[in-house]
Formats: sequence, C-alpha cells, structure tokens
Amino acid sequence: MFESGIDAQAFREVIKFAAGRITAEEAHLNSLDAALGDGDHGITMQLGFEAVLAKLGELDAQAGMDRLLDEAGMAFMAATGGASGVVFGKMFMAAARSLKGFARLGPREFKFFLKAMESSVSSAGKARLGDKTVLDAVAGAGESISDSEDTLLGAVTKAATAAEAAAERTSNMICRVGRASRLGERSLGHPDPGAVSFSIILRAMADWLAARQGGPGGVISVLKAL
Ligand code: ADP
Ligand code: MG
Repeated sequence: MFESGIDAQAFREVIKFAAGRITAEEAHLNSLDAALGDGDHGITMQLGFEAVLAKLGELDAQAGMDRLLDEAGMAFMAATGGASGVVFGKMFMAAARSLKGFARLGPREFKFFLKAMESSVSSAGKARLGDKTVLDAVAGAGESISDSEDTLLGAVTKAATAAEAAAERTSNMICRVGRASRLGERSLGHPDPGAVSFSIILRAMADWLAARQGGPGGVISVLKAL
C-alpha cells in the first residue's frame, strides 16, 4: 500500500509521530547538551515540535506536503531560540521547497528531501562535515540512499540507521561550530545532540512506515513507543 510512497495526510501523521518521539526523548537530549553546551537542546526541540503540532491543527486537510513542511519550519523557528531553532526550522523549510509539486513522498523524493536539508544546514549554519553538528547525521542519511531504492520504507530505514551511526561517530569529533566549539578537545567523547535529534526523527519515520506496512517488527516497535 505504501510502496509508491505516502501522501500529505500520511505525512502529517508521520510528523505527529516524530513529535511524540522527541517529547519522549526531551530529558535525554537535554542531558546530551548539558555535556557539551547549556543543556537546553531537548527543551528547544520539544517547544519546536509543540508549535509544529499546533500549526498542523490550523492547516486545512488538503494542505500538501510542501505547505505542511514550510509552515512547520516557520512555526518551529518562531517558537524557539538558540542555534537549533534556526537550523531545524530552516531545514524543514528547505525540505518543503524540495517537495513542491509532489503529491506523494516516495524513495526518490525522500532523497531530494534529505539533500535539500543537507544544503540548508551547511549554508544556514556554516557547518562543514566533521564539525560535529546535525549536518553529520543529515549527510550520513543522504549518502546511505542509492538511486535505486524501490520502497520508501527501505530508503527511510537505511537513512535512519545511517543517521544513528553518524550521530554516534560525532562522539569522536571535536566540535568546531556553535556553543560546544568553546570546549575544544573536551567535546570529545560526547555525541552531538542535534545529530541525535535528527536520527530520532528519521527513526520515528521508519517505525511509523513499518507499522503501517504491517511488518511484524513494525507494529511492535510502534507499540513500544506508545
Ligand atoms: P544552542 O547551542 O543555541 O543552545 P541547542 O542546544 O538547541 O542550541 O542545539 C545545539 C545543536 O544545534 C548542536 O548539537 C548542533 O547539532 C546544532 N548546531 C548548533 N550550531 C550549529 C551550526 N552553526 N550549524 C549546524 N548545526 C548547528
Ligand atoms: Mg543548547
């Protein structure tokens, strides 16, 4: 049923599901940021997604994926302070532009979506690969997907796994941009909170799709998250 991708209504449900996962991880994300920065990353992500949920409730049922993402990005940015508010908000808005005119999100569109987010983070945040930021997870996800993926679930699952691995690898990096760059070598040994947040969002998306596809692991993983 989802082989050819998902439509805007399903996409709306994916966003809501990811918001729930971020809420569940708020304390964890704060603690990751406490080791490197000011301990507020979970709060920022939670506030951002709360604003996104409120905005989704205002948008009419016919809104396309590009509109949902564009409004979500603006709401996220308006509700949050700090670096990640701007970085994630702009990333969602860039993803919106990449989906303009598409009624469905399939594996090919998902690849555009990740690439657009990658360019947005590097231009908005002036981050480069290996600087220990969310960019490392976004780029890792994008690279993991080939042009021949035939299902959205397959593509998103690969991307989520790659983003998790990339987020873990940021522990071995010295932070070069943002607040944590002040720590220099002391930033070693801790994963970048923004990269972890991004991997949580992709894993939520993969789990949502797996559950709707009726795979045995899918339903169980969503039930576990409730
Ligand atoms: P702040 O650093 O303002 O307290 P948060 O704690 O909410 O913001 O978010 C920190 C995360 O934001 C970092 O883990 C990193 O992934 C991301 N980040 C910060 N600055 C940049 C940047 N210039 N480019 C890309 N990502 C960034
Ligand atoms: Mg912070």
